[in-house]
Amino acid sequence: MIELFDIGKVFRNKDIETKALSNINMSVSDGEFVSIMGPSGCGKTTLLNIIGLIDSPSSGKYLLDDKLVSDISERNRTEMRKDNFAFIFQSFNLIDDLTVRENIELPLIYQKMAQAERTIYVNQVLERFTLKHRANYFPNELSGGQQQLVAVARAVVAKPRVILADEPTGNLDSTHGEDIIQQLIQLNEAGMTIIMVTHSMMQAQRSHRIIHLFDGHVVTESYSKVATNL
Ligand code: ADP
Repeated sequence: MIELFDIGKVFRNKDIETKALSNINMSVSDGEFVSIMGPSGCGKTTLLNIIGLIDSPSSGKYLLDDKLVSDISERNRTEMRKDNFAFIFQSFNLIDDLTVRENIELPLIYQKMAQAERTIYVNQVLERFTLKHRANYFPNELSGGQQQLVAVARAVVAKPRVILADEPTGNLDSTHGEDIIQQLIQLNEAGMTIIMVTHSMMQAQRSHRIIHLFDGHVVTESYSKVATNL
């Protein structure tokens, strides 16, 4: 589904040029759960942003479902992003002035879904993530673990094909972190493709494949025990 060939990314700010990615070759198939690891600043977020069509590479080719992304107009790319990808961030990124229900509903409003249908979709995820009793709470009335659960619910409500998770457990203690990993595993088992940046080898081992980045390059790829048991 996702194929990257020789992808490079250079950021140019005034006189400074930062090479964030070089010669990235990787692919991700439908239904895979892939982890990306590497030290801070090695290009993990940049890579997720390129895969999720938030940013464009400076060089190389990106094929999404065999279509060359650079050939697709800006408008169609935005549509493609909405149809395929949802993000989960380390810092939850919920909107403080909106309730749990309203936060989760937001991606459906962006998709211009009718109100009646939105209510059905939101109720489904509230049920799935056992958040129904918190539907009218505001984010600051919830623990970090609960907030991230809401962020996961918001990510999946529009049924994206791919979840891009950027250190989703980075701000959580190990118990709440484990809850989120369990949810991601269950979503993956239900067919969702997941690409997750993590600093935790233990968490990465729960995915199918681990891609190690260093200084903008893929240094190694390894299959985890989960994959070899499949
Ligand atoms: P990681 O997620 O692995 O910490 P990033 O992808 O955030 O790494 O960053 C990779 C490199 O690109 C870093 O040197 C970072 O400073 C630089 N970088 C990222 N985004 C920008 C930007 N918008 N402008 C300039 N430099 C950037």
